[in-house]
Amino acid sequence: MMKEPEFQPIIGFAQPWSPGTDGPVAGQAVMAVISGPDDLEKFKGKLKGKIVLSAPMHPSTLSEEPLSHRLTDAELDAAAQAPDPTSGNPAMLPLGFSRPTAGGRAALAGPGGRGGAGGGRGNNSFRTQLNKFLKAEGVLVVVSPGNGPDGGTIMGSAAGSATTKDEDMPPPSVIVTNEHYNRIARLLAKDIPVTLEFDIGAKFTESGDSFNITAEIPGTDPNAGLVMLGGHFDSWTGGTGATDNGAGSAVAMEAMRILKTLDVKMPRTVRLGLWTAEEQGLLGSRAYVKEHFADTADMKTKPEHGRLSAYYNVDNGSGKVRGIYMQDNDQVRPIFETWIAPLKDLGVNTLTIRNTGSTDHMAFDGVGLPAFQFIQDPLEYGTRTHHSNMDVYDHLSAGDLEQASAVMAWFVYNTAARPDMMPRKPMPKPGAGRGGRGAGGQGQ
Ligand SMILES: [Zn+2]
Repeated sequence: MMKEPEFQPIIGFAQPWSPGTDGPVAGQAVMAVISGPDDLEKFKGKLKGKIVLSAPMHPSTLSEEPLSHRLTDAELDAAAQAPDPTSGNPAMLPLGFSRPTAGGRAALAGPGGRGGAGGGRGNNSFRTQLNKFLKAEGVLVVVSPGNGPDGGTIMGSAAGSATTKDEDMPPPSVIVTNEHYNRIARLLAKDIPVTLEFDIGAKFTESGDSFNITAEIPGTDPNAGLVMLGGHFDSWTGGTGATDNGAGSAVAMEAMRILKTLDVKMPRTVRLGLWTAEEQGLLGSRAYVKEHFADTADMKTKPEHGRLSAYYNVDNGSGKVRGIYMQDNDQVRPIFETWIAPLKDLGVNTLTIRNTGSTDHMAFDGVGLPAFQFIQDPLEYGTRTHHSNMDVYDHLSAGDLEQASAVMAWFVYNTAARPDMMPRKPMPKPGAGRGGRGAGGQGQ
């Protein structure tokens, strides 16, 4: 809250991987934009006991574009074209999902991309140096504007990471809504003292109790191998993770329920996997793949590697399915073409050779297993809910999720009933990245 020059509640939340404050702390706000090592000296000795505004005033622009978006035929046609390898990132899908929000700032770089860190602390090596400096200077709390849209939505980037060592821990760090950040900045620019108070209850827990969730519908032929489907069930702070990725988890569970209820006979076993710690770098799915299929370090395969036909993932919000990414595997095109033919009236028309990164299918793709994500309508994903305080139940679309569940069940059924295994890409070389292109760093 703001206490002086007058009371005002402030919308905000602790940045992921911020420590707590151990009770309420209050202090004077100061503007201290430190964007590189050269700026450190300027603020030495001036920040003790202060609450630091770490970024310039956020350019607020009235939103003129709708936050929700259905993919148009033109966008899907463009997505179906093989990318021009000479221009930009060929893995990037030219979809509305990646539209910058009002004010020209990209909420997401695109599927698989991540927003820039609020407050200019995005560069990891400088972030560590800056956090050390701010802590040594005795800063109470660091405040950054959200890097999402205006209007109370805050998209929260991380203050540190899962692997931050104790000595590199950031000071307590919060992100607040752009309008509130700007008001504080304007007051300070007019030399009006501002007192802020924060009470951050964030804490770190031991990682020993993390787990994945699996469930199976046994196949009719024990020698026919298996098909997997899933999504991650962990989330980001700020909201409850309804669209990222309660939606994907619910769709995969509903696809299982549909197959079970219809009691269709499938030779292959269908296995659901709901993954933990995707947001910290696909930790759950990578651990599972390592244990069951292959280790990326040596690419030595385990027996189940030869038994998994394909894995299907959902992790792009609440929007219905419009097609599927073939993940650079053109051999699946004629198969998928047959499967989507009866789905045209559900709006599923598009196959793209492109891939999506930064989510759990990459763990499978990284060891040469066929693994796919669906193209989904972005709805309010990049503009409202992704990693934001508005990622809550109200922003789920029931009809879209039902469609997605039916489509996922259909793909899984076909894979489970198909006499042949799905065709594979060549096995990656040992140590060839941790899950293939676009899978570096944190999840999506
Ligand atoms: Zn996600």
